[in-house]
Amino acid sequence: MIKNIAIVGGTHGNEFTGIYLIKKLEAELAIDNLDITYLLANPKAYQAVKRYIDRDLNRSFKQSDLNNPELTGYENLRAKEINQQLGPKGNAKTDFIIDLHTSTAPMGINLVITKADPFHLKLADYVKSRLEGVTITWEEIEDHHFLMSVAERNILVEIGATPQGVLRQDVFDKTQQTVLEILEFINSYNQDSLPESSKELEVYKYFSVAYLPQNEKGEITGMIHQNIQDRDFQTLRKGEPIFKLFTGEEIVYQGDECTISFINEAAYYDEKKAFSMSKKELLKL
Ligand SMILES: [Zn+2]
Repeated sequence: MIKNIAIVGGTHGNEFTGIYLIKKLEAELAIDNLDITYLLANPKAYQAVKRYIDRDLNRSFKQSDLNNPELTGYENLRAKEINQQLGPKGNAKTDFIIDLHTSTAPMGINLVITKADPFHLKLADYVKSRLEGVTITWEEIEDHHFLMSVAERNILVEIGATPQGVLRQDVFDKTQQTVLEILEFINSYNQDSLPESSKELEVYKYFSVAYLPQNEKGEITGMIHQNIQDRDFQTLRKGEPIFKLFTGEEIVYQGDECTISFINEAAYYDEKKAFSMSKKELLKL
């Protein structure tokens, strides 16, 4: 039974869609038998229109970090507060967390799951079979750093393309539709009335990230090649150009075939990341 739900926006302060959507839903949404908390996760970063102040809040929820009294800075403090409010992680009063994000890359509706158990696979399958352009990313690691890992069950909704610090109606509407489908799933799950799921589900299992070309001083020496720009959730093959250096030279991909996403994501530039890499897998439901 899932009763206590948190819908979180503004984990990244410059991703406005979730921030305004939770205000709208809080004002107008009432669902019997569900107790919903709406949380603006990083109000200081939102005011500053920045992803974060001192540290990425969505990398700050490892149990070891939450327990570490030496960690200072706004987001570490905020992570501990949120863990108190929604958690504590491992024994949380919140049954389920929906964390709302946006991307500057044309990702469509991307759902991120951190566990490929029947609940999360059925949830992802439910949304994918009801909305257009849904992809599922599976990013499982031990003691996850995501905010949503405070609850045992969770999903991250990542929708794009939108610039940072901007509200776009198409992205806003898609995010709202996704949240409503997720809540419908929860309702059916609670009433034991879920429709039959698909036989199998296509998921992209995250395995690595590619970095922009850099010189020995760490300055970038080129950019994403137009060959891969906007090709999110498409296949990258060995020998394809991925970077165009400022000298005019092209850098080609040397690795094994994979799927790429978050291509040229604005939020990636502070760490000089270029794109995310995953492998397509078919999981039985
Ligand atoms: Zn985000």
